[in-house]
Amino acid sequence: MSDDCLFCKIAAGQIPCNRVYEDDQVLAFHDINPQAPVHVLVIPKAHIATLDDVGEAQREIMGVVMERAAHVARELGVAEAGYRTIINTREHGGQEVYHIHAHILAGKRIGPMTV
Ligand code: C5P
Repeated sequence: MSDDCLFCKIAAGQIPCNRVYEDDQVLAFHDINPQAPVHVLVIPKAHIATLDDVGEAQREIMGVVMERAAHVARELGVAEAGYRTIINTREHGGQEVYHIHAHILAGKRIGPMTV
């Protein structure tokens, strides 16, 4: 756990969230500022700041995060229609919270990606 990390505190239960899935390695919760009818964040409980910090040692947990993201999408009933999964990295990627998270956006056709 990283002391000043918001998502570490959410993962530890110190800050509340609207949880949709949890196990010993992963937490998924509704984004507080949803950008689609369904907007869920999937995080590893262990602190990883960005995708750029993912190396060989993080391969397994990131595989778990993605597998659980797919599970959450199925559980929310959005898998068949489809969804977008996004990981933002650092400033130019638009990352606000430096604890890696996969966004799941669903519930409508998500528009084309713009830059
Ligand atoms: O990828 P990025 O770092 O920009 O995404 C952070 C996301 O975390 C935002 O969509 C924001 O609404 C969400 N958030 C949240 N709960 C908080 C703080 C931020 O769901 N307490």
